[in-house]
Amino acid sequence: MSNVKIKRNVSLASLSTFHIGGKTELFRLVKTPEDLIRTIEWAKEQKIPFRVFAGGSNIVFPDEGLKGLLIRFHGGSLKVSKNKIIADAGVPLMKVIGTAIRHGLRGLETLSGIPGTVGGATVGNAGAYGHSISEAVRRVEVWDGKKRKWIANKACKFAYRESALKHESLFVLRVELRFKKGDRKELQKKSKEIVSIREKKYKPGIKCPGSFFKNVVASEVPRSVMKKINRAKIIGGKIPTGYLLEEVGAKGMKFGGIRIPDFHGNLFENTGKATAKDVKTLADILRKKVKAKFGITLEEEVRYF
Ligand SMILES: Cc1cc2nc3c(=O)[nH]c(=O)nc-3n(C[C@H](O)[C@H](O)[C@H](O)COP(=O)(O)OP(=O)(O)OC[C@H]3O[C@@H](n4cnc5c(N)ncnc54)[C@H](O)[C@@H]3O)c2cc1C
Repeated sequence: MSNVKIKRNVSLASLSTFHIGGKTELFRLVKTPEDLIRTIEWAKEQKIPFRVFAGGSNIVFPDEGLKGLLIRFHGGSLKVSKNKIIADAGVPLMKVIGTAIRHGLRGLETLSGIPGTVGGATVGNAGAYGHSISEAVRRVEVWDGKKRKWIANKACKFAYRESALKHESLFVLRVELRFKKGDRKELQKKSKEIVSIREKKYKPGIKCPGSFFKNVVASEVPRSVMKKINRAKIIGGKIPTGYLLEEVGAKGMKFGGIRIPDFHGNLFENTGKATAKDVKTLADILRKKVKAKFGITLEEEVRYF
């Protein structure tokens, strides 16, 4: 590729909200679907291994760093028409939500304050306050390594913090979202309220990847296990993992450079020098404790890269 900037030995910690990780051998920031495709094709031609990420807000990068090329799809443009927004996957989710609200479009306001991109949110079916992005996604444009194609919502197999996109080697290029009509002022108010509630839990600048483990879907838990759960704690059909972790004494725990705050058991905060090894070890310790007490196996919401 001519005129293409590839950086060398870039700190992974600087690319993730958790501030963890060694260095990536090669790094490139792309801002359009076309540039993403071009960069991947170039890496394939050069036989260089590559990985794609976006906002870095749901990732634990490895301490030993990454070989090959790390591609960050962050940026791009979006288009609004009537009740529809088509956004490049790299557009920050907050920009999409802000644009929707300004146009009086309702549907994503409860996701206000979730960091990262609309592409990253779609892959992991991000959500908050009882709603997830899949409710607004109409279709997703992907590149399968050979061609661009649109995948309908149903074929994305969205579930709680899950999608087929997460497990297939597809690259998300654009997302088409459909909204309902709403009142701009009311949407703005709701969005502001949610951001201010969130800022109490996630202080601005906190080094973390959001909630660490997924909550537990109550209907998927056997009756014998449900007997051990305080049913008053269940919210929207989910057993909050924060509650399970609190019950095994996670709040206030420290391990290596990770601290779990007193107010939230499912939050791993990097106090400055945490490593991916600290994270994995603490996750295993807590998983075992929860398994022993409740018979539930916790699954990470964050992804180890
Ligand atoms: C303070 C804080 C609060 C949070 N609160 C919430 C919350 O309330 N609800 C919630 O659901 N999440 C929350 N999160 C987690 C995170 O913000 C979301 O999961 C977010 O949607 C991830 O988007 P991202 O762009 O940062 O993805 P990244 O972390 O960069 O990537 C996540 C995964 O998606 C893949 N990916 C990204 N872009 C593409 C693409 N274009 N094509 C193919 N694969 C891709 C990556 O390879 C990786 O596996 C929070 C995180 C933080 C730091």
